[in-house]
Amino acid sequence: MTLSNLTTHLRQEDAAHHLHPFTNTRELNGRGVRVITKASGVHLTDSEGHRILDGMAGLWCMALGYGRSEIVQAVTKQLEELPYYNTFFNTTHPSVVEMSRLLSEVTPPQFNHFFFTGSGSESNDTILRMAAYYWDLMDQPERKIFISRRGGYHGSTVAAAALGGFGSMHKQGGVPVGNIFHAPQPSWWEEGGDLSPEDFGRKVANDTLALIDGIGSKRVAAFIGEPIQGAGGVIIPPATYWPTLAAGLKERGILLISDEVICGFGRTGNWFGCETMGTEPDFMTMAKGITSGYVPMGAVAVSDKVADVLIAKGGEFAHGYTYSGHPAACAAGVAVLNLLRTEKVIERVRDDIGPYLQAKWRMLADHPMVGEAVMTGMIGSIRLTPNKASRASFPEAADVGMATRNFSFDNGLVMRAVGDRMVLAPPLVLTHAEADELMEKAVRTLDMSMAAQRKAGLMA
Ligand SMILES: *Cc1c(COP(=O)(O)O)cnc(C)c1O
Repeated sequence: MTLSNLTTHLRQEDAAHHLHPFTNTRELNGRGVRVITKASGVHLTDSEGHRILDGMAGLWCMALGYGRSEIVQAVTKQLEELPYYNTFFNTTHPSVVEMSRLLSEVTPPQFNHFFFTGSGSESNDTILRMAAYYWDLMDQPERKIFISRRGGYHGSTVAAAALGGFGSMHKQGGVPVGNIFHAPQPSWWEEGGDLSPEDFGRKVANDTLALIDGIGSKRVAAFIGEPIQGAGGVIIPPATYWPTLAAGLKERGILLISDEVICGFGRTGNWFGCETMGTEPDFMTMAKGITSGYVPMGAVAVSDKVADVLIAKGGEFAHGYTYSGHPAACAAGVAVLNLLRTEKVIERVRDDIGPYLQAKWRMLADHPMVGEAVMTGMIGSIRLTPNKASRASFPEAADVGMATRNFSFDNGLVMRAVGDRMVLAPPLVLTHAEADELMEKAVRTLDMSMAAQRKAGLMA
């Protein structure tokens, strides 16, 4: 295939001047980057004119799909009226006021105050500081330790990278912030052995509480977890995990932070993942779906329990970002929340397109190369394996996940690989016909990848 002049030109310029996130630049520049030029609905178009179904909703964020004029117009109007003003020095503006009120309506009842940021990472940095300060105000300044999980992802700023449980991040320059301990993850297929999923869920929760007791529970400020781990491979915990863990944290007086950056705003079939998992967090981290990815923004939902203390006793909380409550970002957020409500997007995920896609996705478990196929709401994964009976893994060096991802792209479907898990989180506005298209492409991808693994002698 000969590439168009446009593609060749953009690849050369990109290689010359652009450092990509989470990318081996040398490898990428050798291979040539893929150029996405436009998108509409749930489909991307690349610079060679290929149409690709976006099974990852961008990077988990494009819940309402591409090309929503309601959002574009709301942002445009805001940029014309008031493109920027800060919210620091006794000032506010209509769009941040409206966004805050709407968030109080859609979040669980304990949340009535919101702090705005530019991203999920910044939101977690904010929570880390706010939770530590809360315990100072509560005369328990010894509570400074945070517990997170192996395989958890909480962002890339220094605090967020330390909270995250990615060895690949920690080994580059070390763990940038101390006082953070990593608990096990509830990944039954990989680590559950002979236990039933329910027993394994309880065991991981109890192991986490034992870790906390070993540290001294009165030194622990908070536990942070994603309701369903996203970037760590869409690990859907057994039903026993969250209730056991949340009850143990409550007994010990430890704050619960639900990182809702992926699970929030409908992804799991409820407004927030904590509602699906049955927990009552003290903080929620929000980003991505909060603006459906149209404009960068994050937010922190602060429960009354924390906000009341902060407001009554905290004085000035010395923390804030230039773009906290950016008018255009809030305008996008308001438009998105209104669309989620008026189009009943979340009810549709819960009652219609979610169950429709789940039923088809779970059937992939019958494929010889798939160990398990799981999905809650519209977030799911399949675990690739050379032998499902023994729950075996492919050799890491073979990078079968990446190979499968490449077949998927060639088939016109974006699926992401996390090790040997293929993960899926399509736009929530997916139609039944588009779900059928997605599944056809996924099956073809698995068939092609399996043929390649057999040819390479990696699978019988
Ligand atoms: C993406 C993500 C973050 C970080 O958000 P950024 O906007 O990339 O900083 C934090 N937590 C979770 C669960 C995420 O998926």
